[in-house]
Amino acid sequence: MQNDGRLTHVLDPEDKGQDECGVFGVWAPGEDVASLTYFGLYALQHRGQESAGIATSNGKQILIYKDMGLVSQVFNEDHLHPLTGHIAVGHVRYATTGKSHWQNAQPTLGPTPFGTVALGHNGNLINTQALMAKVRDDAGEDLTGELGRGSSTDTAVITALLGAADNYDSLEEAALGILPALKGAFTLVFMDEGTLYAARDPYGFRPLVLGRLSAGWVVASETAALDIIGATFVREIEPGELLIINEAGPRSVRFADATPKGCIFEYVYLARPDTKIAGRGVNASRNEMGRALAREHPVDADIVIATPDSGTPAAIGYAQESGIPYAQGLVKNAYVGRTFIQPTQTMRQLGIRLKLNPMREVIEGKRIVVVDDSIVRGNTQRALVRMLREAGAAEIHVRISSPPVEWPCYFGIDFATRAELIASGLNVDEICQSIGADTLGFISPEGMIAATTIPESKLCTACFSGKYPIPVDHAKVAAGLDPAVEE
Ligand code: SF4
Repeated sequence: MQNDGRLTHVLDPEDKGQDECGVFGVWAPGEDVASLTYFGLYALQHRGQESAGIATSNGKQILIYKDMGLVSQVFNEDHLHPLTGHIAVGHVRYATTGKSHWQNAQPTLGPTPFGTVALGHNGNLINTQALMAKVRDDAGEDLTGELGRGSSTDTAVITALLGAADNYDSLEEAALGILPALKGAFTLVFMDEGTLYAARDPYGFRPLVLGRLSAGWVVASETAALDIIGATFVREIEPGELLIINEAGPRSVRFADATPKGCIFEYVYLARPDTKIAGRGVNASRNEMGRALAREHPVDADIVIATPDSGTPAAIGYAQESGIPYAQGLVKNAYVGRTFIQPTQTMRQLGIRLKLNPMREVIEGKRIVVVDDSIVRGNTQRALVRMLREAGAAEIHVRISSPPVEWPCYFGIDFATRAELIASGLNVDEICQSIGADTLGFISPEGMIAATTIPESKLCTACFSGKYPIPVDHAKVAAGLDPAVEE
């Protein structure tokens, strides 16, 4: 990502926490598993836009294709056709650890004492360096798999640990032995030549669900991916659970006790609105966040508009609760993905307009409430307020359906460092001034949590509260070390 503030708007239009990855797996004899995975990844594209990959197995050998870019840019019929078999694992990636280059694309592939493993990971480990030291102890300098090919991710380290597991009798046993040593957030979908596996860390930071096809089974980051391929939702993979899927169907074993701490940011921004997490619809949560925001921060205004698309359900909730009409004030270019083309100087000056453009006839002369889901660095909101003023808004009242983000995430969301988070240095009035709004209101932590209907004790809220479910050492991070606190 570029450091220049405006350039960031163009290259990384969200200017907010980016989720690391989406994972998908299928076990379905007689089905075109590569195509099912392609469409599953298509549904999960919002979770990662830097690279995409699919591995398949016919029971004897694993084939893999992956590359940089969106799912639709990486795959065509010619790539999918050779990916035959009845098992598949797929992945879309946004880099949080390791650079954004081909070697770090997933699924990772590596040899093990029991065959080959292809693995996709959503999350972020906080003890990667310690695990890497263990890999070097076990395997020496002769690294295999993606590590040997120059990958630098925590995912490659997990794959290497499985590869060096010659003191176990099977991949299942190796996974049960290794998973408890991983610290942090990990939602894994992996396979060897004959079996599909899915695992979720004991906190269940990231979602993972099991679905049923007429001819088999599916695991996916979000329920929306099940809907899109016609699978029915069966249940969530439990925190601390390893699921093994083969001819005998799914079999569950535990590698740790569950201590659920689902990421609340999934409800705020990350997950698709048509996904359900822990039985709660994401759209309903966002809508309720907007309603709570209207109760907590009312204002006299003519229209409520959203920053599309992630702010839309909360903006509708704000409008419903306040009685102020909802209007479409901004048009989003739905086709802006991640571009690797450097913008021209003129485009840099246009800022976020590549993605959002105001509807002058809706905005001119109006007192506007604009609802967004979060403020991370504040760059997008500053540019947005300027854009709305240029379009003739009489007043601009910014309402945010999450509290100020004051702390970094070490569990799979690529927020800025603490110093770059606008709310870590400024209070609400100062942020309001910095982005140039007339007024600014954030939902309270209590309001946000209540809107999910999930008990606070089962949620991670660390980026808002600083209360990390797993102890972390910020000083170690500043020194370039893993955040994990030594035990
Ligand atoms: S720190 Fe924030 S973004 Fe990260 S897992 Fe916790 S709630 Fe989610």
